[in-house]
Amino acid sequence: ETQKETLGFQTEVKQLLNLMIHSLYSNKEIFLRELISNASDASEKLRFEALNNDALYEGEPELAVRIEYDKDAKTVTIEDRGIGMSRDDVIEHLGTIAKSGTASFLSNLTGDEAKDSQLIGQFGVGFYSAFIVAERVDVYTRRAGADVSEGVHWSSTGEGDFTIANFDKPKRGTRIVLKLKEGEEEFADGFRLRSLVRKYSDHISIPVQMLKEELPGEDEAEDAEAKAPEMESVNSATALWTRPKSDLNDEEYQEFYKHISHDFADALTWSHNKVEGNLEYTSLLYVPENAPFDLWNREAPRGLKLYVQRVFIMDQADQFLPLYLRFIKGVVDSNNLSLNVSREILQKDPNVDKLRSALTKRVLDMLSKLAKNDAEKYATFWKTFGSVIKEGPAEDMGNRDKILKLLRFASTHTGTSEQSVSLEDYVSRMQEGQKKIYYVVADNFNTAKNSPHLEVFRKKGIEVLLLSERIDEWMMSQLFDFDGHNFQDVTKGELDLGETESEEEKQKLEEVAKEHEGLVERLNKVLDDRVDSIRITHRLTDSPACLVIGDYDMGLQMRRIMEAAGQ
Ligand code: ADP
Ligand code: MG
Repeated sequence: ETQKETLGFQTEVKQLLNLMIHSLYSNKEIFLRELISNASDASEKLRFEALNNDALYEGEPELAVRIEYDKDAKTVTIEDRGIGMSRDDVIEHLGTIAKSGTASFLSNLTGDEAKDSQLIGQFGVGFYSAFIVAERVDVYTRRAGADVSEGVHWSSTGEGDFTIANFDKPKRGTRIVLKLKEGEEEFADGFRLRSLVRKYSDHISIPVQMLKEELPGEDEAEDAEAKAPEMESVNSATALWTRPKSDLNDEEYQEFYKHISHDFADALTWSHNKVEGNLEYTSLLYVPENAPFDLWNREAPRGLKLYVQRVFIMDQADQFLPLYLRFIKGVVDSNNLSLNVSREILQKDPNVDKLRSALTKRVLDMLSKLAKNDAEKYATFWKTFGSVIKEGPAEDMGNRDKILKLLRFASTHTGTSEQSVSLEDYVSRMQEGQKKIYYVVADNFNTAKNSPHLEVFRKKGIEVLLLSERIDEWMMSQLFDFDGHNFQDVTKGELDLGETESEEEKQKLEEVAKEHEGLVERLNKVLDDRVDSIRITHRLTDSPACLVIGDYDMGLQMRRIMEAAGQ
């Protein structure tokens, strides 16, 4: 070995390692899934790069992942023939965490094991999970196409630092050797490893191989011939999305979800479709149950895993779904794109637009199906991702009606802050003669619920939507109508209650207005240029007066936001 040096882990890695080892202990077997997942990613990356540069195969195009173990030495080895890593790659990928927002994520961890393990799951555990079971991890790797002398040996006990050195590695790819901790010897066992591969990594499209093990007593006669060790595939090694739906069970779908999403928890629901014809594609789209830790970071990676004719092309292809569906994880595999496609080409390819609109519809359909068939799961979904969906009506005019049906609101009908009322529910409860959909926006739910503007609605039994999220006023300003009913902010302008008001009532209001002309005049004088106008109203039943905004003025929420921004 040459050029050996010792380097410290980035602070965040140290913190993560520490927390992970403790909080994921009850899930320790997932280390194997993570390492096989990386081996598979590395193999797919090589296959992609080799499309334009066959030499990267170095004459050996086989891509299988191999798993070996040694009971006596207490080691488990995972070896791939993938893209491998250079010395710089190793330092970057196995010494730091590149995700932005990591520090603030870590500061959210509480020390409560159950809570933290969930958070860490959302963050993604990856390579470092090896240290849950290993007291030392050795990585031997060489980048495909690099000189044999550019092999790199990385070694660490997962405490504060790691060593890195160069060595000669004839075969490209990565070999990871785990020296198991005392008490974790159970993993150096053929039966255990095989069952874990089948449980977690069956769907990996690259063969995962292990040495064939013969049961004691079998084939004894042939022992003399000292056969060469024979490998066998342990997984089914077909890309999961290419298999027919009827062949797949929920567990398989969930494991595949974890592989592509790097999520630790199950998905909430998914939609698997194969489409033939002009536009040919297979898609498998998942709705996560939990939000990723960086949902609100606009630069956070998002998008689907793109395959062309089953060859992996890229991660995070974000052209295939609009921003308001950025939480969707999944795979799209199309025959309409060229294998040589790049991010730049994707931006111009008209097929991408077609795929994007097809996939967007798939997601919206999947969500409306979920809403229809499983109200409880939909409520979970809405709680987590509702405020992202609220960006939809403005971003995606073409699907506005579908998106509107997905929205859920708090309302005077339920009176609780839970957003559970759909616009269809609202419309079905409209009073005779009611033409509009009424809503109020406030800083928080209680202010909305107790708004004096609601008094007349309460009296007449008319439902009002209660909005109090930051995005709400902006969203409502983008909406015009639902099902032919206009939206009306109850704090704005003249209240038009449509035909819910009888002639009698209108007449009475006019009489009252006449009676109080004098008062209005006096108030106008006193308040002068501080208000636009003063009106006699019946919108109040208990409060003597309230402020109303002009029909075309900015709402109160917006005003506050603009004021806060110094406008
Ligand atoms: P993720 O898989 O989510 O990127 P990991 O912690 O699992 O995160 O891996 C970190 C990075 O280390 C990978 O993105 C990859 O660049 C590199 N890496 C890990 N394992 C391998 C491997 N077997 N071959 C090549 N690169 C690898
Ligand atoms: Mg990984």
